[in-house]
Amino acid sequence: MARTGKSTAISHVGKLRANNQDSAYAGKHLFVVADGMGGHAGGDVASAIAIKRIAEADRPYSTIEEAEFALQSALLAANTLIAETVFDHAELTGMGTTVSGIIRVGDKVALAHIGDSRIYRLRDGELDQLSTDHTFVQRLVDSGRITQEEASVHPRRNVLMRVLGDIDSAPEVDTTVLSTAVGDVWLMCSDGLSSYVSDDKIRTIMKANSNPRDAANRLVKESLDHGAPDNVTVVVVSIGEDQFSGSLPPQIVGSAALPLTYEAEIARKALRLPTLLLHPLKSTLQEDSHFEPESEEYLDELMLEHRRRAIRHKVSWLIAIVLMLGAIAIALILGYRWTQTHYFIGANGDTVAIYQGVQQDLGPIKLSSVYQQTSISMESLPEYTRSTVTDTINANDLDHAREILQRIEELSR
Ligand code: CA
Repeated sequence: MARTGKSTAISHVGKLRANNQDSAYAGKHLFVVADGMGGHAGGDVASAIAIKRIAEADRPYSTIEEAEFALQSALLAANTLIAETVFDHAELTGMGTTVSGIIRVGDKVALAHIGDSRIYRLRDGELDQLSTDHTFVQRLVDSGRITQEEASVHPRRNVLMRVLGDIDSAPEVDTTVLSTAVGDVWLMCSDGLSSYVSDDKIRTIMKANSNPRDAANRLVKESLDHGAPDNVTVVVVSIGEDQFSGSLPPQIVGSAALPLTYEAEIARKALRLPTLLLHPLKSTLQEDSHFEPESEEYLDELMLEHRRRAIRHKVSWLIAIVLMLGAIAIALILGYRWTQTHYFIGANGDTVAIYQGVQQDLGPIKLSSVYQQTSISMESLPEYTRSTVTDTINANDLDHAREILQRIEELSR
């Protein structure tokens, strides 16, 4: 029996956001995810426009080159449509969206990608990320300035360098053609998944769930288990011998599944307020992603900011170390001073002496010294007194030490 391809698209608003700005489409030949920008008004509008327009490219193609061109053209057409919408609705100025999608033709897949949503392929148990994030931090990683781990916690990790929107009339879309085989599983997802669930975990879940619906559900659940501060969207496609999921009607999820509305932001803000009050810390931690034009000046500015942060980081470490060493030195000085307020009687060779300090030594550091030498010889003392002096006698203070000394003197012969 021929192995049938299957696909599933799921979009979840997440645990902190009031609206879903992600959209996705899983059709017969085309599978695509879009993540509208939350930092601007109309992120949900932008992703919905993009997905609805790009879905028109879901049809059979005779060659993969034709499919690649159609997909790229669909993304550029969506870009134009977003710009036209902004022209008619000025309040949506600055809205934008990421898009990551694939079209399959036989044993080839055409990919088109812009922004920081991702395309992965699971093959023989190995997961490969086949898209490159168009983010500022990815630039830093590519140029060897920071590691992938540092990028994942960088305060500017949400800054996108490329998106579809109303800023650039001809945005640079990455396109490529890759091989695929029966048994491959493709995943398109928004950063609401990839920022909170590790590649390793994604691989484990996809390997363990051969049914795309189970895999998609488990992936979204995993992000929710991590708090899902952002919208989470996944499209999972398993490659069969047929041309994908011919038996299923195309699926549209997220904001593209709702009628397009351009309602004022005020209504949304009112909705968002209780969420912020309930999760003040989490909400401030999860910054909305936003787009910055890819100008050299802006990049330089970000690089400068990154360098300053690195220097600040080093300086704060240095200050912390100096303060710590200072605190240790002060503790040692105070400790030493405290020992020097103590006195005891002991033997200094053959004679009795008053010592200042404490009997214990700190490694090579002696914490006591002879304070007052006497002419009372140890020999002249009764045996019991002599051994007591040898063991040392603690005094409360100097006067007390002198009293003890006087009594010892009276006992000497
Ligand atoms: Ca997002």
